[in-house]
Amino acid sequence: MNNKLYGNLIFELSKKGRKGYSLPEVEYGFSTNELPTNLRRQTDAELPECDELTVVRHYTNLSHNNFGVNDGFYPLGSCTMKYNPVINEEMAALKDFSKMHPLQPADTCQWTLNIYYDLQKALAELAGLSEFTLNPCAGAHGELTGLMIIRSYHESNNDIKRTKVVIPDSAHGTNPASAAVCGLEIIEVKSLNDGTVDIDSLKDIIAQHGDTIAAMMMTNPNTVGMFEKNIIEITQLIHNCGGLMYYDGANLNPMLGIARPGDMGFDVMHINLHKTFSTPHGGGGPGCGPVGVRKGLETFLPSPRVVFNEEENAYTVKYPNEDTDLSIGNFFGNFGVVIKAYAYILSLGKENVKWIGPLATLNANYIKESLKDLYELPIKEACKHEFVFDGLKDKSTGVTTMDIAKRLLDYGYHAPTIYFPLLFHEAMMIEPTESESKETIDGFIRAMRTIAQEAIDNPEIVKTAPHNTPIGRVDDVLAAKHPILTYRKMIEDNFDK
Ligand SMILES: *Cc1c(COP(=O)(O)O)cnc(C)c1O
Repeated sequence: MNNKLYGNLIFELSKKGRKGYSLPEVEYGFSTNELPTNLRRQTDAELPECDELTVVRHYTNLSHNNFGVNDGFYPLGSCTMKYNPVINEEMAALKDFSKMHPLQPADTCQWTLNIYYDLQKALAELAGLSEFTLNPCAGAHGELTGLMIIRSYHESNNDIKRTKVVIPDSAHGTNPASAAVCGLEIIEVKSLNDGTVDIDSLKDIIAQHGDTIAAMMMTNPNTVGMFEKNIIEITQLIHNCGGLMYYDGANLNPMLGIARPGDMGFDVMHINLHKTFSTPHGGGGPGCGPVGVRKGLETFLPSPRVVFNEEENAYTVKYPNEDTDLSIGNFFGNFGVVIKAYAYILSLGKENVKWIGPLATLNANYIKESLKDLYELPIKEACKHEFVFDGLKDKSTGVTTMDIAKRLLDYGYHAPTIYFPLLFHEAMMIEPTESESKETIDGFIRAMRTIAQEAIDNPEIVKTAPHNTPIGRVDDVLAAKHPILTYRKMIEDNFDK
């Protein structure tokens, strides 16, 4: 497609004085001319001036250069884009919700508070924990919130020497990053060949650092899709030395309705609503990373919180009492994401939520077993929602995981997560999710088999892929070392010469 026809940037299409909008004369009871002079800008904003069709076509064409979950199968492991039913978008866009103000008096928005409250309760039930806050705006934000709760807990016990967090080497990168931002020190615990935590290493760490361990962060199933069978022993080891267990529940789908982090012994956790509960993510948001705690830790949760007042038979917003509360402080998060998660849970119902985990697990194992004769499978056991290949089985072709990922684009598939986790050199982490049809998954398996054959018959076509996309293979090093991040810089570099 020749998108040059429409120009690369909306600014290049601008023609002085051209307009694609008309504003109503008076919307807020005054016209813009009546705005006090000190509030008006002194010079015009430097904005592109275009007619409506030019704008619509420009952005439509740009969107064609992208690959999204609405274009095709998207088997990205770990940070997976799961099911995003369109009806949830409609619910979140309802004016009654989208025009709310976070400081609106509680008696004017009981139904909204009801939704907040019910979702807190539903998540607590699914997680096996006592209370949830919906305030954090992302998974990493939830991790930081959870770690601050854990730190406050230790401080409230005058146990201030607990400054270390144990994290498995297979962990998502945000785990050590959040611990560092929280001012905690990271101790890495090794994984065994099957991807699970090495209990002997963990025991050594505890023997050495036991009384300074604040917490251990884990996800279960872990990032290679393995369920930690020794989880009860792990949580007991950490509890016995005085630490708390943190559960990274970004991708809770394999566990939904099947097993609960609270029952495994976890004390604090976050969930990514924008992965597991149907908000599309990418491009920076909006997200929501609710944090749950076990009984006894509720007092540390951030405020404001929605509570139900039995006496008044009404929902109220509870702000922290600075004298008595240990709350770590905060503010309401992304309410639109809360609505989508609520709509998703309601539309599934209790009886269907419990199918999510088994279907995610079945789909992942089906792909794994259908391709393991051609792709190197380092961990052979049954996986949960995702698994990892270590490149092609036939290492003589010179075709890398990067090449395969690029070639998949030619066949209309998004690439899996590649070169993560760092446990394997040619890692290719595949998660099909619970909501794909057998036909879609079979199509992906066929494409992966075709590429493995091409790697033998015609490796060049794989190594130089993609061939059918608007942009060919990009120079990653150049993009990382000399990024062009501003419009002016792009003009200087490309047009003024
Ligand atoms: C996505 C993800 C996170 C981080 O979530 P963000 O919303 O991107 O901050 C943390 N842990 C795991 C396992 C994840 O997949």
